[in-house]
Amino acid sequence: MERRNADWTNPDWRFVGGHRALDLANSVAPRPPGPVERDYLSDPDALLEWAERAEIVDAAEAERVSRAWRPEFVFAEVLELRAMVDDVLAGRRLDELGRRWAEAMGRAELVPGDSGAATLVVGADPGMMIGDRLADAMVDLVRNVDLSRLRECPVPEGGCGWLFLDRSRNQSRKWCTMDDCGTHAKSKRLTERRRASR
Ligand SMILES: [Zn+2]
Repeated sequence: MERRNADWTNPDWRFVGGHRALDLANSVAPRPPGPVERDYLSDPDALLEWAERAEIVDAAEAERVSRAWRPEFVFAEVLELRAMVDDVLAGRRLDELGRRWAEAMGRAELVPGDSGAATLVVGADPGMMIGDRLADAMVDLVRNVDLSRLRECPVPEGGCGWLFLDRSRNQSRKWCTMDDCGTHAKSKRLTERRRASR
């Protein structure tokens, strides 16, 4: 049986994870280990655009990054971080992430804050901004997030495997988005049922 998923070729970026580190994991569809149909981070330019749309950097920062970074280096590093998300969620490779995070903290700057006395600016160095902020996001995910709300859009039922935090009150969210995978899977089930009843 052919499994037809939601339209990964849609150029619109979708951020459904509810957390930056999950959005990083979701920058490929469907998520591995199955065959990947679309990698949103196809090259350094795509990474920079993704980082801005995912609000890792703002427009002015993206401009500074583009002047300061070594694109291939940052690109390779981000793909490595992305490949670690599942592991760190399972409590593996934490030492690796911890070291990367410590490097990011070494470059972070403490500046006067708006509400409190100070704000910690992670990624103050534009050349390392994207990697530093993503490493920090991953540490935040494993340290501070209630992972009992972590869900995966179900691939066996036609979903995309994307990760998201279910913030619904009764914690019954199943799909990354109902507009996309949910609706698609529903219409597919309907077609199959009609076919079966014929
Ligand atoms: Zn999905």
